[in-house]
Amino acid sequence: MSKDNAIKNMLSELLPETTHNDRETEAIGRALAGFLSPGDVLALHGDLGAGKTHLVRGLCAALGIDAARVSSPTFTLIHEYDAPVPVYHIDAYRIARAAELLDLGFDEYLSAGAIVVIEWAERVASLLPPETYHLCIEHGGGDMRHLRWCSEKGHQPA
Ligand code: ADP
Ligand code: MG
Repeated sequence: MSKDNAIKNMLSELLPETTHNDRETEAIGRALAGFLSPGDVLALHGDLGAGKTHLVRGLCAALGIDAARVSSPTFTLIHEYDAPVPVYHIDAYRIARAAELLDLGFDEYLSAGAIVVIEWAERVASLLPPETYHLCIEHGGGDMRHLRWCSEKGHQPA
C-alpha cells in the first residue's frame, strides 16, 4: 500500500465521530495533525458554533502552536501560525468573491509548505485543490457534534 493510501485509510478510521464537548472536538483536531503533511489543505464546513475553530485549535496545539493564539480570523481572513510545520488558518465567512482570497496570496499559501485550514470553505470551493480534505461538523443537539468526511459542497457523504 502506498503511503498516501495508508494515510487515507487512517483518516477514514478517524471519522465519522460524535463529540460531546469542545475538548473532544479539539482532540480530533490533534489526532488529525498526525496525518496531515505540509501542503495539505483541510476544508471545514459547518454552521456558526459548530466547532470549526476548536478543531483548528487542537490541530495547531499538536503542531506546537500555542492554542491561545488560535481564533477565527473572521475579520483579518487569514492567521499565520509559525511552527516547524506552519499553519495558515483562513476564515472565508466574509469573503464575497473567491477572487478576494487570491488577492490575499492564496496560491502562495498553498505552495508554502504549510498546512492550510479553511473555515466556511464552501465559499471558496472553486479555489480549492482537488486533493483537499473536506470535513463537515453538524450540530447534534446540545453539545453534541457529528464530524465526518464530506464532499466539497459540505452536505453530501464523501
Ligand atoms: P465555529 O468556528 O464553527 O464557529 P467555535 O469552535 O468557535 O465554532 O465554537 C464552538 C462553540 O460551541 C464553542 O462555544 C464551544 O464551547 C461550543 N461547543 C459545545 N459543544 C461542542 C463540541 N462538541 N465541539 C466543539 N464545540 C462545542
Ligand atoms: Mg470559527
